[in-house]
Amino acid sequence: MFQKILIANRGEIALRVQRACRELGIATVAVHSTADAEAMHVRLADESVCIGPPAARGSYLNSHAILSAASITGADAIHPGYGFLSENADFAEMVEAHGLTFIGPSPAHIRMMGDKIAAKEAMAALGVPLVPGSTGAVPDLAAAAEVAERIGYPVLIKAAAGGGGRGMKVARDADGLEEAFRVARAEARAGFGNDAVYVEKYLDRPRHIELQVLADAHGNVVHLGERDCSLQRRHQKLLEEAGSPVLTPVMRDQLGGTVTSALRRLGYRNAGTLEFLFQDGQFAFIEMNTRLQVEHPVTEMVCGIDLVREQIRIADGAPLGYAQTDILFSGHAIECRINAEDPESFAPSPGLVTAFHAPGGLGVRVDSALYAGYQVPPYYDSLIAKLVVHAPTRAGAIARLRRALDEFAIVGVSTTIPLHRRIVDDPAFQAGEYTIHWLERFVSDADRTG
Ligand code: ADP
Repeated sequence: MFQKILIANRGEIALRVQRACRELGIATVAVHSTADAEAMHVRLADESVCIGPPAARGSYLNSHAILSAASITGADAIHPGYGFLSENADFAEMVEAHGLTFIGPSPAHIRMMGDKIAAKEAMAALGVPLVPGSTGAVPDLAAAAEVAERIGYPVLIKAAAGGGGRGMKVARDADGLEEAFRVARAEARAGFGNDAVYVEKYLDRPRHIELQVLADAHGNVVHLGERDCSLQRRHQKLLEEAGSPVLTPVMRDQLGGTVTSALRRLGYRNAGTLEFLFQDGQFAFIEMNTRLQVEHPVTEMVCGIDLVREQIRIADGAPLGYAQTDILFSGHAIECRINAEDPESFAPSPGLVTAFHAPGGLGVRVDSALYAGYQVPPYYDSLIAKLVVHAPTRAGAIARLRRALDEFAIVGVSTTIPLHRRIVDDPAFQAGEYTIHWLERFVSDADRTG
């Protein structure tokens, strides 16, 4: 087993990985920018190394500085968390070239899934259903128009290298296609340095349902059920549930069977998530994330499996040690992403946290690196806490969530807690009746009614 793991991340996820390491008896190395010298992930690590200036480009994205930190401290593996370098195949390759273990999939699989066109082609060949669209990239407007006519409007123009909801444009009709194509391409070039785009049917009322998988280096692949992440604003998830309010155990088994057999044939290793849109009883694959997801705790709560611990064991070459039939789903879990943002305008709200009180009690988990006196820096993602609740039923989880949100006190910065309170009290949310477009409307309706 590894003796020492360097965690190439910050904030709540760096703490999350430290916790798994500590329980496995593995020493931890934190890395941090100059802006994060006082951060909790630095305070709680066994060792820490400053790797650069506040801007992520010079620190958390600085692979050379991170590898130097690993070598100075004698770490034998690197866990990338999510974001930053977690889906960077070149970084994973560099880690391995330095004789260290990258805790994640092979660089080849990271690269394949990072290109959404290649990912869709690979999944289609393995029998996974896709959203109708172009086969591969569309070279020009005429080709995009041809595909759009065939599948019917509205369509979505998407960047092959896209992520975080960027490089995606809807064309409602033939007149709107030119602009959507031009803007998506320009955004893709500017944002990702790759202007390849493809066309997909734009679904008008899908849910976003994703499946968590674990695969070891010995050909064992299991799924840990689904997460419903339909509550999104600007394609960013805000609240996630496990399981989905609309999926039956039979549907879960069917999807799980398709996905696990595809990944077995692919020879995939470590944790991964396949994202699907679900509409009219049909699943359609949109992309695969080759890393731990922000929303992984809801899966942990219903399965009782520590996903980070499993990632570390798998990277170390250990077999899973359990089969699909050993995985039991118990109860319902919901996660709220608490961002340091204005709950109405969503403008970032960095600054000094003057008071902090986290909720507790049965079935409540808070993953956060906040403390009273902490200065939320303006340089990074605005996620400051994840509130996760678990209860035997969905109704029980909602009641627990409301109670936990009421207990939660974060003073000094604005947060999305008031928005979560409103969502939890909404009858449509309580009934589980929402699509990926629901939250956008919910937020703008509130604007209109003041
Ligand atoms: P990213 O990598 O930027 O997150 P995804 O392909 O995962 O991009 O899509 C992000 C979100 O955009 C999805 O969760 C969904 O809400 C929406 N979306 C993606 N594809 C479609 C589609 N074909 N029709 C409607 N909405 C879509």
